Amino acid sequence: STLLSFRDVWVEYGEKVVLERVSLDIEEGSFVSVVGPSGAGKSTFLRLILGQEGPTRGKVLLDDVALKPECNPDRGVVFQRYSVFPHLTVFKNVLFGLECGAAPFTARLFGARRKAAVEQAMEMLDAVGLAHSRDAYPAQLSGGMQQRLAIAQALIKHPRILLLDEPFGALDPGIRLDMHALVTGLWQERGLTIVMVTHDIHEAFKLSTRVLAFDKRRHDPHAPHRFGATAT
Ligand code: ADP
Ligand code: ADP
Repeated sequence: STLLSFRDVWVEYGEKVVLERVSLDIEEGSFVSVVGPSGAGKSTFLRLILGQEGPTRGKVLLDDVALKPECNPDRGVVFQRYSVFPHLTVFKNVLFGLECGAAPFTARLFGARRKAAVEQAMEMLDAVGLAHSRDAYPAQLSGGMQQRLAIAQALIKHPRILLLDEPFGALDPGIRLDMHALVTGLWQERGLTIVMVTHDIHEAFKLSTRVLAFDKRRHDPHAPHRFGATAT
């Protein structure tokens, strides 16, 4: 069934058209990759799904309801870098993934709710293979482990949608393969819908069920961007 729906979506910044007439549906449980040159609007597309930004025209629907710019437990996000807080331990970084708007800070949770939060964090650390590093600080972790931590932080709320913005771009090829296996496993086990921006077309076709290609207009590099979608 359709989870996310883009209906004639435009994003414009002043004169600049970043997304033009984007209409597409994203199926629940699919793994969608978004490829294209920088400046093509890939991050803008993710921000629309995150609800951090609204379209200039058109609609973005989640379960047929327009997305609102609010902290939403349906979505978790991982960026290429800087997703985790350097001053918090691994464990507290994962707990931080539960923070949401005006919800009480996890440090102020008591009794059963605190116990549940701690159990959830331990479960997530296990799932990404970081249980043994729970008291370390991010700077003590390798790049791959930091991204494992970012994924745990993004998934602790059990979101339905995981958004990945070039999550493996800074990693060595061997580590990247480990991360592919991890993300594929989480996707299958948890029934996630994943939308991933990547510069690596091979990665896109290897991991995902569908590849969206964002392009710029060819005839004029300064002209507004054009959107193109290909299904595989
Ligand atoms: P990509 O992720 O494909 O590199 P982005 O979505 O980051 O592309 O950006 C697409 C275009 O929109 C770029 O030209 C960028 O400069 C422009 N852009 C993005 N956000 C803003 C903004 N808040 N104000 C003005 N221009 C923006
Ligand atoms: P503190 O009390 O030091 O401020 P928090 O209240 O932020 O710590 O921690 C939230 C919960 O996580 C607490 O119940 C705490 O006992 C637990 N916790 C913190 N670090 C760990 C850890 N490494 N392993 C298991 N539980 C932890």
